[in-house]
Amino acid sequence: MEVVRRWIQIIRTKISGLFSDDIGIDLGTANTLVYVHGKGIVINEPSMVAINQKTGQVVAIGNDAKNMLGRTPAHVVAVQPLIDGVISDFEVAEEMLGYLIRKAQDGKPKFFGPRVVIGVPSGITSVQVRSVQDAARNAGAREVFIVEEPMAAAIGIRLPVNNPSGSMIIDIGGGTTDIGVISLGGLVNAKNVNIAGDKLNDDIINYVRGEFKILIGTRTAEAIKIATASVFENENPFEETIRGRDLVSGLPREVVITDADVREAIGSSIDQLVDAAKEVLETAPPEVISDIMQKGIYLAGGGALIRGLPMLLSENLGIQVHVPDDPLTAVVRGTGMILEDLQKYEETLITQSHELSPTE
Ligand code: ADP
Ligand code: MG
Repeated sequence: MEVVRRWIQIIRTKISGLFSDDIGIDLGTANTLVYVHGKGIVINEPSMVAINQKTGQVVAIGNDAKNMLGRTPAHVVAVQPLIDGVISDFEVAEEMLGYLIRKAQDGKPKFFGPRVVIGVPSGITSVQVRSVQDAARNAGAREVFIVEEPMAAAIGIRLPVNNPSGSMIIDIGGGTTDIGVISLGGLVNAKNVNIAGDKLNDDIINYVRGEFKILIGTRTAEAIKIATASVFENENPFEETIRGRDLVSGLPREVVITDADVREAIGSSIDQLVDAAKEVLETAPPEVISDIMQKGIYLAGGGALIRGLPMLLSENLGIQVHVPDDPLTAVVRGTGMILEDLQKYEETLITQSHELSPTE
C-alpha cells in the first residue's frame, strides 16, 4: 500500500510540474500588477511600452519604458496600451501581456500554460473582452477568465460579493474611475468615467500654465498632486517649489505652488467625481441603497489616497466612506482570490455569452 501511495504522489508531482502557476493580472491604465499563485504580487509596474517605430519592435516595458518617456530619440515612442481603460493598441497590449505572462513564469514556461484571470474596466464591450482574451491566449495562457475591475476590487477587499446584500465600490485609477454597485455576484449598477488621476494631472498643468505662465510636464504635475493634493483647507498649508519652462522667455523658471492652488486646480474634476458617485447611488434599487447605507462605500485605486476625498464623498453622499489598506493592490488581490476558488467566484466572471455591465 505504502509503495502505491508513494507512486501516486510521485506521478502527481510530475504531472503538476507540467502545469504553470496560475496568474492574476490587473491591467490598469496607470499600473499593471501581476499575482502568481503561491508567490503573491510579483510585478507592479507602469502600464507602458516603448516601441521603435522604425522596426516596430518593443524596446522596453514597464518601469524601463516609463524612464524613457521624454528622453528617447524621435523614432522611439512610449505608448500606454490602455487609454481611458480600453485597449487602444491591440498589438502593444498583446506584447505587454506576453511579457507579463513570461516574466511571471520566471522565463521557464511549462508544458501547459497558466490559467489567467484578468481584471478589465467595467463597461468594456464584448469585442474588447474578446481582444483581451485573444491577447492572453496568444501569450500562452491555457484558460483566460475576465472580471470587471470594481468586482475584482470588491473581492480583493473581502466584501461579501456573493451575498444578496449590496456593496458599493469606487475605484479611482489613472485613466478611469470605476463606480460599481454589487450584489449576488454581479454588478447591479456601474459607471465608468474618465475623471481620474490623469485628469487631475492635466488640471494641474493647465492651472500652472494659466496662473504662473510656465509649462510643466506630466511627471512634475503628478509629483505635485501626490505631495500636495487635498480637498479641504489645511491648518498647516504645504507648498512645493516647481520648475518649468517660462511661456514667454522659453527659459526655465521656479515657482512655489501651495495646496490651495492645487485644490483650485482640481476642484471641478473632484466635483464631477462626487456627482458621478451620486448618480450611481441614486439609480441603485432602494433595498440595495439601504444595504450600502449600513455598510458604507469602499474606495480603491490610487485616487483613494487623495487627502480628504473620503470625507468629502461621505459628506456629499450622506454615507460613511472607507479606504482599505493598500487600495492600489485591491484589484490584483481580487484576481488572486478568484484563482484560488474559481468555483466560488464563477458568477462574478464575464464570459462571452454573459451579459455585460449595465453601462454598456
Ligand atoms: P489604474 O488602475 O488605472 O492603473 P491605479 O489604481 O494604479 O490606476 O492608480 C494610479 C493613479 O493614482 C495615478 O494617477 C496616480 O497619480 C494616483 N496616485 C497614486 N498615489 C497617489 C496619492 N498618494 N495621492 C493621489 N493620487 C495618487
Ligand atoms: Mg485599477
